Amino acid sequence: MNTPRKIAAGNWKMNGLRADLQEARNLAAAFPAASVDILLCPPATLVGAMAAALVGSAVRVGGQDCHQNVNGAHTGDISAAMLADAGAYHVILGHSERRADHGETSTLVAAKASAAHAAGLTAIICVGETEAQRDAGQTLDVVLEQLKTSVPDGADKANTIVAYEPVWAIGTGRTPTLDQIAEVHDALRAHLPDAGISLLYGGSVKPANAAEIFAIANVDGALVGGASLKASDFGAIVAAL
Ligand code: PGA
Repeated sequence: MNTPRKIAAGNWKMNGLRADLQEARNLAAAFPAASVDILLCPPATLVGAMAAALVGSAVRVGGQDCHQNVNGAHTGDISAAMLADAGAYHVILGHSERRADHGETSTLVAAKASAAHAAGLTAIICVGETEAQRDAGQTLDVVLEQLKTSVPDGADKANTIVAYEPVWAIGTGRTPTLDQIAEVHDALRAHLPDAGISLLYGGSVKPANAAEIFAIANVDGALVGGASLKASDFGAIVAAL
């Protein structure tokens, strides 16, 4: 079967101290045997501790970035193998905040994704247009070019997830219309190297809009920022999937 897996992934971004691991424990307690994949991506400082806190649970842990090289003189960076060693199964790559804040290009994202694959991690590769690009009618061109250039050779449903995150919808409370999400997800599905790769929507997903977004064809789940910080909010999103 080539049915994509359903996935609810939380991206804590630069939020979370050890005391917040209780939210992860609460989430795990709410879903002792989940029918969908549940994932939390805390800051790197918490990956090991969160993985330890979630041992034996249905909730997995991921990183938010990794370096493209295996090791070496890269002060402040973290390799894919280090994330795996700390207990991560996934890593978010090419998030628009990293593309904007750190100048990450799609070519670099592909190199990072290859490094993630080599370390046994599933890469969650993010694509998405800016508001100016949408207004200019360039959305499909932009996301398909990002997809083509950011997804490396060897990507398949076992090692890769793609997240569509319109930049203007992230952290803003604004979301595209359901038709706009459907249009982009249909186009992405048609251009994936493996049709079984899960396609997540991200950008202001919350308990109130999750169900209608999950009902769209070719939406296999969500990448959730702000609403993943509290187990109650994220749990409601997981339950809607
Ligand atoms: P948001 O972030 O849910 O806070 O909009 C989503 C993301 O950036 O992954």
